[in-house]
Amino acid sequence: MTRVFNFSAGPAALPEPVLQQAAAEMSDWRGSGMSVMEMSHRGKEFMSILAETKALLIELLNIPANYKVLFMQGGALGQNAILPMNLLRGRNSADYVHTGEWSKKSIEEAGKYCRVRVAATAEASRFTHVPPQGSWDIDPHAAYVHICSNETIGGVEYHWTPDTGDVPLVADMSSNILSKPVDVSRYGLIYAGAQKNIGPAGLTLVIVREDLLGSALPITPQVFDYQHLAANDSMINTPPTYAIYIAGLVFQWIKDQGGLEGMARLNQAKAGLLYDTLDASGFYTSPVAREDRSRMNVPFRLPDPALDAEFLKGAEARGMVQLKGHRVVGGMRASIYNAVPMAAVQALVAYMKEFEAKHG
Ligand code: PMP
Repeated sequence: MTRVFNFSAGPAALPEPVLQQAAAEMSDWRGSGMSVMEMSHRGKEFMSILAETKALLIELLNIPANYKVLFMQGGALGQNAILPMNLLRGRNSADYVHTGEWSKKSIEEAGKYCRVRVAATAEASRFTHVPPQGSWDIDPHAAYVHICSNETIGGVEYHWTPDTGDVPLVADMSSNILSKPVDVSRYGLIYAGAQKNIGPAGLTLVIVREDLLGSALPITPQVFDYQHLAANDSMINTPPTYAIYIAGLVFQWIKDQGGLEGMARLNQAKAGLLYDTLDASGFYTSPVAREDRSRMNVPFRLPDPALDAEFLKGAEARGMVQLKGHRVVGGMRASIYNAVPMAAVQALVAYMKEFEAKHG
């Protein structure tokens, strides 16, 4: 059995050493005589896994002491509702920056709970750039300003941290969390679905500044009340135990790769190789403004969509899967998260050149 080069946008490739360790520990976790899946979430074994996973995340992201780390469920889409429920704090509107499909979903959902102001939008460029800070119109009374730090479908990423003054900055980091160092203190809240750079689907990570807690709307479900979760160390009910365990193994793997600096170097090298190939080709095109191109999700187009099927078929024959672009953007998309090795990008680039030589 050989493993494919997996360019899936999520759930996505996991580090092979993590999978091997999980396999080795599958039926007997470190002499406990149990699989992690079989453990009581309140038993000492799982409590130690939870504590270690949290400690590793705090270390990797250098999370300040006045922030809470919450392990939740409901996905990043769940947070689109959970966020306004928890963070309005008596205010009646929130600001959103519209950069593509995922921020659009956030805007639509938040509209059920508060007035949503679009503080900036990239609609004019068909969502191929991040609106520069100078174009943002932030309401100083907004409960928060929401951004999507990496638009997974459009392939647009912030390479700078917005300055929102006294209004808390909130980021959906689902598709670029842990891919580079982040100054957490610049954010009021960060959330991410796990199934790209963290681990299996089913776990949602929230990092929130303490002073924003405690004013959830009365309708907020108990299991989605940040304050309540923080007070109970994410253990109001059964957390996604196995996903948390795998996340812990992934965090340790990231640490072993040199932490977030190490990840950033690797991701820069991988994305650089792919974008250089696109730019040098005259055959493939990248729709995204150069300065805002994502290092995680790289959409690209062939000169004629009639070639797409043959490109994908040839890729699969060479062990490269999940390169089909999202239907909204079309063309191809290579998702090259932390766990996608440089060898995968090298194989892709070699194949792209071969395909271009044949059809160019
Ligand atoms: N936000 C972003 C940026 C995403 O990429 C995704 C998933 N692709 C989501 C939100 C939705 O995440 P989930 O499936 O965990 O709800």
